[in-house]
Parts: sequence; C-alpha cells; structure tokens
Amino acid sequence: QFPFGRRLPCDIYWHGVSFHDNNIFSGQVNKFPGMMETVRKITLSRAMRTMQDLFPLEYNFYPRSWILPEELPLFVAEVRMMKDSNPSWKPTFIVKPDGGCQGDGIYLIKDPSDIRLTGSIQSRPAVVQEYICKPLLVDKLKFDIRLYVLLKSLEPLEIYIAKDGLSRFCTEPYQEPTLKNLHQVFMHLTNYSLNIHSGNFIHSDSVNTGSKRTFSSILCRLSSRGADVKKLWSDIISLVIKTIIALTPELKVYYQSDIPAGKPGPTCFQILGFDILLMKNLKPMLLEVNANPSMRIEHEQELSPGVFENVPSPVDEEVKVAVIRDTLRLVDPLKKKRKDTHTLVCGSVPMAGLAGMSSEALPEPTPSAVLCRRCQSLEQAPGARQELPDAPPSPEAALPSLCLKQVFPKYAKQFSYLRLVDRVAALFIHFLGVKGTTKLGPTGFRTFIRNCKLSNSNFSMAAVDILYIDITRRWNSMGLDHKESGMCLQAFVEAFFCLAQKKYKSLPLHEQVASLVELCECRLAALHGKRLAWGCH
Ligand code: ADP
Repeated sequence: QFPFGRRLPCDIYWHGVSFHDNNIFSGQVNKFPGMMETVRKITLSRAMRTMQDLFPLEYNFYPRSWILPEELPLFVAEVRMMKDSNPSWKPTFIVKPDGGCQGDGIYLIKDPSDIRLTGSIQSRPAVVQEYICKPLLVDKLKFDIRLYVLLKSLEPLEIYIAKDGLSRFCTEPYQEPTLKNLHQVFMHLTNYSLNIHSGNFIHSDSVNTGSKRTFSSILCRLSSRGADVKKLWSDIISLVIKTIIALTPELKVYYQSDIPAGKPGPTCFQILGFDILLMKNLKPMLLEVNANPSMRIEHEQELSPGVFENVPSPVDEEVKVAVIRDTLRLVDPLKKKRKDTHTLVCGSVPMAGLAGMSSEALPEPTPSAVLCRRCQSLEQAPGARQELPDAPPSPEAALPSLCLKQVFPKYAKQFSYLRLVDRVAALFIHFLGVKGTTKLGPTGFRTFIRNCKLSNSNFSMAAVDILYIDITRRWNSMGLDHKESGMCLQAFVEAFFCLAQKKYKSLPLHEQVASLVELCECRLAALHGKRLAWGCH
C-alpha cells in the first residue's frame, strides 16, 4: 500500500474506491472513471428506463421505477391509472435513497401517499420501485444473489461472470407484504449488514447452510427439485450483458473525459457486484449494481457481550478469492507474451461454456478465447517443456481452472442490436469537442444538427436552440452534478429521441432511433470520409 502515492509506475493499480484515488498515467487500474456515479440508484434507474423505452421486453428484468422527488406526480398518476384499470392490483413499493447502501433508509409502502418527503434523511433524492412480492424462497426465507462480474474492457466490450456467487438470506420467514409486516426488515431486506444483527443470523462454515451460502449450493437444491438451472444461468447472463450495455454509454463519456483517446494513459477494468433477486417462477430481477462490492473474507463474531473478533468466513473465501485471483490472471500484463507463445504451439481451443449454461440458447464461443485446456495440460504433461525451450514457466498451470467465464464478446452477436444508445453516445462524444468535458455546449449541439443536416424549413436553427435550452435546463435543474454547465449525455439522448420521433413518425421508438443514428453516421461519414469509431458496423 502506498497511501501517499508512489513514484515508479506500476503494472496494476488496485484502488480502494475510485479511479481518482491516485494520478495514474500508465498501467491498468481496477476502477473505471465515473463507475460509482453510473451505478447510483437514480442513474442506473434512468439508464434502465431509457433501455426499457427502446426495448421493453428485453429490459423487463428491472422493476418499474420512478425518481423522487421529481417524478412523484408521475408516480402518483401512473399508480392511480394502473389501479383504475385493474382494481385487484394491490401493489407494494420500496423506497430507496439515492447513493444509499446496506439497506440504509429503505422502507416499504402500499400507497404513493405514504412517501416521506419531509425530514432531513427522507428528503434525499430516492428511487421508488415496484416491490417484488413473490420471491423464490428457500427454507421459507427470502434471499438474494450477489454475483461478481468483471468488466475487463469497455472498448472493445469484454465481460466475464463468476460461475459462483453468494446467496444472502433474510432471517425471518417471508410473508407477502401487508400493512402489518411492511416494517419487518429481517423479513423483507436481504442485506447481510442488517440481518447480521438479527438474533436468528446463522454463521456457518458450510457453503450450503446458514444465512450466507454459495449460489451454487442453491442451484444444486433447485436442480434436485427439477428446476431448469441451465435456463436460469442463461437468463442471468442475459441480464448481466444487457445491464452493462445500458451502462456503457455513460461510462464512455466519463472515460474519454479522463483518458482522452490517442494519448498514453492507463486502461481500466473493474469487478462489479450484481444484486439479483429470483422470483418464484425463477425469473432473475436486477436489484442493483455495486461498484465497490465488499471483498471481505472474514466476519465479525461476538465472543462475549461487546467483544468482537474477526474470524474467517469460508463461504466468502471460496467465492471471493477465486474472483480476485482470476481477475489478476486475466489482466496479467505478462499474459499476452505467454499467449503469443502458446498460440504458436496449440492454436486456440476455447474453454467450455459456463457450468450448467444452456448451450442451445446462446451461440458457440468465438475462437478468440485465450486459455485452453489442451494448452494447460500440455504444460502439465511431463516433457512438454522440452517442446517449448524458450517459453517462460506458466504460473497458471498450477492454478485451478478459471471461475470467471467470458460472456462478451462470446455472445456479442445476440445482443449487438441493443447497443443503440452507445451509438448515440458516440455522436455525443464526437461533438463534445474539447477533451476533458462531459457536457455539450450550445455550439456543439448546433454543429451536430448542422453536420448531420437535421434542420430544415420545419425545424429551424432557432427551434434547435429552443430544444437545447429546454432539455438542458430541465436536466440541470434535477442533476446532481453542477460542476459543468451544458447538456449531459442523458439530455442529449432525450433530444435525440425527440428528433427521431419527429422525423420517423410511424415507426416504433427503437426503429426511429436506429434510423436517425444511421442517417447521422452516414452524413458524418460523407463529411469526414469515414465512420465514427463506435458507430462502425
Ligand atoms: P442497498 O444498496 O441499500 O442494499 P438494494 O437496492 O440492494 O439497496 O435493496 C436492499 C434490499 O432490499 C435488497 O437486498 C432486497 O432484499 C430488497 N429489495 C430491493 N429492491 C427490491 C424490490 N424491488 N423488490 C423486492 N425486494 C427488494
């Protein structure tokens, strides 16, 4: 640890909180700029809403959410409308403060009028979300899944998922929410940090009992009950890929601002914690994404009243050590060298897909996989080193097989049509002009309209300015970031959707947006003689 910085550059920087913990000019950093902001409850809900507007069926794994306080009237009106059209609908909602964690400030309500808007803590910006009333229960208890996901690279997009995760259990038997039990956190909230304080919390050295278990132990149980575990894995992989696709546009804006393209700089990777709830019908639902998931492998035990000791937690150790070990293996700067030598010898034999994953649902892996079983066994086989006199000894040969499995670009083909906002973000970044900014000024917006030839007799440049001012003012009035003035990416996306709707009236929204993106890319290509890097296809 170098709390006061370090002079000599490192290959890998392991920051505790964010990209900005140190000034880094080379090597690899374990955080992306802007990740913390991008996965906050409000920003995540906004990004998911944009995707739900474009692709409602593909993004139905995120509960319907509203942003408070600005969308309170909308929330009230929509709930009233849904209740009117279906009087038997008796919903419950969960209110979660923005930026909160560990269940902090969360409460359940039955009616929009129960939202607490007064008082210092309660008046924080928050997300109110439809509460999933019918979760899958194990031993009559609600539980959620923490899955670790490695975002290895943003451009090109590379995603890995750990094949095991944690299941965190409530400590009171679950009942569907009623006015009487709404406040019972040990029944409704699965947070470890809350349930540990319940008298019923069970620490266990075994991975398949107690209040924290491995996800694989749950899968075993489900499988023995006849559940389709392959389909469940395939759904979880889709959820993870789609969620990251929703986050990449914003991340790319932060990335180019902190690490301008074409200049020497570090590259980034990041381990994310995905919190997923399984519904009774085994449909996985995304609860949240954690930019700094806890990597503790110990837990506190109260030896005598008030006296605590840290003791090893075998369940945490089993899952988390593998995630960190594999992350380091995958970002290992010496690996490329070894890979080149290996490819010469054995070619590329891709590793098997994620354990238990449906191979029919998702296509075959691309031949780009780097590690291969043949290669490993070759190294382990006696005499193999004689065939490779110059190959460096591979420390990987002695390690267990990878727990992190590549899912992107492996399954890229199936999901590429969802990367529409990425292309809108590429246009936005193109017109940002001055590097180091994340917001578009009025001149940049005008240049975008002019270069893409979007104004005409029905849409004058004066109307363009009004659109810019209207949308930018509204976003800035509710924005959390007042450091820079101008139009943020989400505001640009809104303006872009608006233009697309105007131009291609009768099409569904995603086709309107796709048509406009295509048009802009072509007009810019004609102007610059080539396509934008992120818009190419
Ligand atoms: P925090 O960051 O404070 O932990 P979460 O969004 O993870 O906030 O929510 C805390 C807990 O509340 C979750 O672990 C889960 O048990 C429960 N929860 C959150 N959202 C929902 C929901 N929409 N439906 C049912 N339970 C939920």
